[in-house]
Amino acid sequence: MKTHAAKFETIFEGKEIPTNPKNKGLIKWGRIFALNGLAPKYGTESSHGNLSFRTKNRMIITRSGSDLENLEENELVEVTSCDAEKFCVHAKGLFAPSSESFEHFEIYQARPEINAVFHGHSQEILLSAKKLGIVETENAVPYGTIENLREVMNALGKNDFIIMKGHGFIALGKTIGECGKKALQFQKKAVEVKTK
Ligand SMILES: [Zn+2]
Repeated sequence: MKTHAAKFETIFEGKEIPTNPKNKGLIKWGRIFALNGLAPKYGTESSHGNLSFRTKNRMIITRSGSDLENLEENELVEVTSCDAEKFCVHAKGLFAPSSESFEHFEIYQARPEINAVFHGHSQEILLSAKKLGIVETENAVPYGTIENLREVMNALGKNDFIIMKGHGFIALGKTIGECGKKALQFQKKAVEVKTK
């Protein structure tokens, strides 16, 4: 249930690793997520979650099934378009992009002021959603599907932090740093609420 196998088809426009000065920031935050319980390991699996930032071609995102704790630059993929009708993505890179690429892609489309989108998992945040006043998607549906995309976009509105019911959270930021710090703050608050 928690794994993030891509369900759409990836059409590669090139195999080059996307170079961008912001790549380092994404890799840094992947590690911070893993080390702060925002991308927990399940059993022997790696630390799951997916992080992206806006580029002029659209976005650079972590690959499907990446281990956020040990992310490398060649695991970043540039996604240039997502086609919901054909359920395929166009990408440049060595790997298929994150299974949640559609959600990231649509968010950049709908929210021009947003330049970073992070998705992670935290039982603490899920459990304290109501107490912290975090908006949740209405229905729990399988991630990486068009149904989930609709749920996310409906819940999002003008919010910068939402929960995918029974699954995880999505943080939005004007910068990579702002996005990461927002997720960390919610995690801290959620732990505080839990221990009260
Ligand atoms: Zn997830």
